Amino acid sequence: MNQDTSQTPTGIFVDKDKCTGCGNCADTCPFGAILVDETAVIGEGCNLCAACVDACDFDAIYILGKKEAALTGPDDSRGVWVYAEQREKVLAPVSMELLGEGRRLADILGCPLSAVLLGHQVAGLADTLFAFGADVVYLADHPDLEGFTDERYSAVLTELITEHRPNIVLAGATAVGRSFIPHVAAKLGTGLTADCTGLDIDPQNLLLQTRPAFGGNIMATIVCPERRPQMATVRPRVMKRPTPQPGRKGQLVQVSLNHSGFKTSLMEVVQELTDQVNLAEAEIIVTGGRGLQSAKNFQLIYELAGLLGAAVGASRGAVDAEWLSYAHQIGQTGKTVNPKLYIAVGVSGAVQHLVGMQSSDVIVAINNDPHAPIFNVATYGLVGDLFEIVPALIEGIKARMGI
Ligand SMILES: Cc1cc2nc3c(=O)[nH]c(=O)nc-3n(C[C@H](O)[C@H](O)[C@H](O)COP(=O)(O)OP(=O)(O)OC[C@H]3O[C@@H](n4cnc5c(N)ncnc54)[C@H](O)[C@@H]3O)c2cc1C
Repeated sequence: MNQDTSQTPTGIFVDKDKCTGCGNCADTCPFGAILVDETAVIGEGCNLCAACVDACDFDAIYILGKKEAALTGPDDSRGVWVYAEQREKVLAPVSMELLGEGRRLADILGCPLSAVLLGHQVAGLADTLFAFGADVVYLADHPDLEGFTDERYSAVLTELITEHRPNIVLAGATAVGRSFIPHVAAKLGTGLTADCTGLDIDPQNLLLQTRPAFGGNIMATIVCPERRPQMATVRPRVMKRPTPQPGRKGQLVQVSLNHSGFKTSLMEVVQELTDQVNLAEAEIIVTGGRGLQSAKNFQLIYELAGLLGAAVGASRGAVDAEWLSYAHQIGQTGKTVNPKLYIAVGVSGAVQHLVGMQSSDVIVAINNDPHAPIFNVATYGLVGDLFEIVPALIEGIKARMGI
């Protein structure tokens, strides 16, 4: 429930002059969210279903803003929006990846693609967003948006969405996106599919949002048929970064900040000390799985990786066996990567592993089981014993290098 109209005029309200305290609303509420204390009092369980509005014979209950935004029926012309995340005035790579995917979806729907850029002194980033496919950039550039807080960013994005009512809103499943995008969806009363690994448009023009479900054992495709916008977050590096078109132009819409009196502000950013495994940036990754049989045998993987200038990855099977640290894990509960070359050695290719690496440019799989699922995504498959194939590869590379 939101009865604070000072910042966002949305929510459900009781007109105490009209309410007689008859209790019809409380009896009707499917969530038991209404108490009657002389007049109706709407509590936290309310999800704006509006059953009480219909039940009230005195027109004493009404919904502002949120319901209108959420329940507006499908209208594909309103466009696809991408939240263009920036940190310290540098665009997060996922912003460009989402513009590529957003462009594809917008072209299917025949509607514009817009980017929303929030921050302070970030106007210079708009050209990059146009180059990566945005037709429109909504820019809220204000000192109050210098540091990210959920409260500030969700207030501004919610207001923009309520005003312009896009059909689809995409954001990165980064620490920032995961933190504030659910606030936005909740304020708008619409659905949000987090951590999507695939997006598409169905014949009814609905957004198909695919993500691992039920502990990662199946891939579920989720739709949001009634509420708008359709909202999804996507993990970095799942979507391909498009090729930019330098000089491409679009419309820049300056957005003024109608908010003040924020309760939160950013005091300090503390850099986390991370592990030394830079899988995210690596152009080549050699990954070992349980097929290696022991930590000692990972020496083969390190030797091959060393010759190729590659980073070393691991399946969860190998990490759970404590052959490598978690920092190396690739997959649903590890890192998402998309190098130019991904070599999977003794990895079966469980769906939870595939979601973390399947967008790699070239995938080479080495496995002695010809039916291993890794071969379904492999560009080149080598069926055989890794303890024969990997040493042969190492020797072949050494010979080519003359060492
Ligand atoms: C919620 C959840 C999240 C998960 N997240 C992740 C994740 O982030 N990343 C991840 O990787 N997994 C994840 N998993 C686990 C995943 O389901 C698999 O169990 C795991 O990926 C298996 O690791 P593996 O391929 O190394 O082992 P296995 O499945 O045991 O495969 C070993 C492969 O090696 C092959 N092999 C054996 N010996 C040889 C040989 N001599 N030569 C060649 N090939 C050989 C076998 O044929 C087999 O295909 C998750 C599971 C769940 C439920």
